[in-house]
Amino acid sequence: MMVGGAQYTHLLSLAEEGFSHINAKTPTPQPLLRTAERRPNPLRAHKWRRYFNHVHSAPLARAARSRAISISSRATATVPTPAPAPTPSRAADSRFLLGLAEPELQQLALDFGQQRYRGKQLHQLIYKSKIREIRDFLQLPQSFRNDLEEAGWKVGRSSVHSVVRAADGTIKILIKLEDDRLIETVGIPVEEDSGSLRLTACVSSQVGCPLRCSFCATGKGGFSRNLQQHEIVEQVLAIEELFKNRVSNVVFMGMGEPMLNLKAVLGAHRCLNKDVQIGQRMITISTVGVPNTIKKLATYKLQSTLAVSLHASNQKLREKIVPSAKSYPLQAIMKDCKDYFLETGRRVSFEYTLLAGVNDEVEHAVELAELLHSWGRGSHVNLIPFNPIEGSEYRRPYKKAVLAFAAALKTEEIPVLRRIHGGLDALEELSQLRNVFKNSRILTAIQMVTWKSSEVISIHACLHQDYELAFCNFKVE
Ligand code: SF4
Repeated sequence: MMVGGAQYTHLLSLAEEGFSHINAKTPTPQPLLRTAERRPNPLRAHKWRRYFNHVHSAPLARAARSRAISISSRATATVPTPAPAPTPSRAADSRFLLGLAEPELQQLALDFGQQRYRGKQLHQLIYKSKIREIRDFLQLPQSFRNDLEEAGWKVGRSSVHSVVRAADGTIKILIKLEDDRLIETVGIPVEEDSGSLRLTACVSSQVGCPLRCSFCATGKGGFSRNLQQHEIVEQVLAIEELFKNRVSNVVFMGMGEPMLNLKAVLGAHRCLNKDVQIGQRMITISTVGVPNTIKKLATYKLQSTLAVSLHASNQKLREKIVPSAKSYPLQAIMKDCKDYFLETGRRVSFEYTLLAGVNDEVEHAVELAELLHSWGRGSHVNLIPFNPIEGSEYRRPYKKAVLAFAAALKTEEIPVLRRIHGGLDALEELSQLRNVFKNSRILTAIQMVTWKSSEVISIHACLHQDYELAFCNFKVE
């Protein structure tokens, strides 16, 4: 799910109960600088690679593999899917500490000839002190730090490319990944009545999204790849750093469809819960619906919220708004949601983006209520008035229409949450920045086509995967 457009408003609904402006209490974000990279000693690196290949234990081997291998392509074949997600090439040789549990870090320390308590120190350095580079783990012996780096280990933190703050204190950041791709993360601060800060992080699970919901800016931008587990966790740490505060809630509603990257999402969920110490009930996983994945998620019996984006009250309308709905009929989704509740005891919440003149009539509300009632009582609906994006055919509904829709649901005894919020302009600037960055890469690549025709094939491949430009648009001089 994407937060850049309409979903942003819903995020506020998750983050707030009576949102108030707290701008004065939140710190000004500071630029996050990476220290210069050291060149590893090739001889020592070779020694440790041999060590890894031949000596280290099975659990560590599994841990190392899970860090080094990019997340597999989507598990379900029934949703229209793009070409397999490319692996981030530079990350493929790296092993990432971020995402490892304390026992795994203790095993890692033992495998490097250190004492077990060094693993506990590693855990604190990564998750509490949030130190970004192994070389800065000053509590650890220099030799251990060197050995880790030379064996290809990294913390797994990326740099912050840009930060934009909205008037209400919400911050949207662009994180630049190891392979230079950009992802968006949003931090939403809400001051509680008690004066404490509730900070919600809205995290991305993919670079782009293959599902192409017709109202969504991310869907229009195409799909690049799945995020790895550490790339999801680091978004939460980045929000904590910028706000100088603990994140209390996490919603998987940034770029991408979490269910298409379930392995990494579940790994990140475990880490956020156990290592970053965010309660399971404070985490929401959102989906537009991918066949078989709700059933699969139910088997994990998470105490987190599942939010299903319906956006329509009947199948025909849903197919227009959400193209992937063709392969996962509404009735099948509702049955899976009911089974999810029976399996986990957690009610599913339903998202509904209101699009003017498309799905915002009172008749739609009544039909939606009938649908929800037919699958059991207690369903909860979050109404999200569409926030217009450039080039979109959709319009934001008038407030009157939103109120009428909400009232109709309430009359039908459906609990409904509705949020309308300003302050989006600054956040949209950041989306535009991402596009500028993306376009600058396209221009560079086009120039290279002109200069070096031998690289045409690889550049075409890159552009096709990243930016979905048609090959026929290129002429090689
Ligand atoms: S699932 Fe749909 S709404 Fe969510 S990010 Fe993908 S295209 Fe956008």
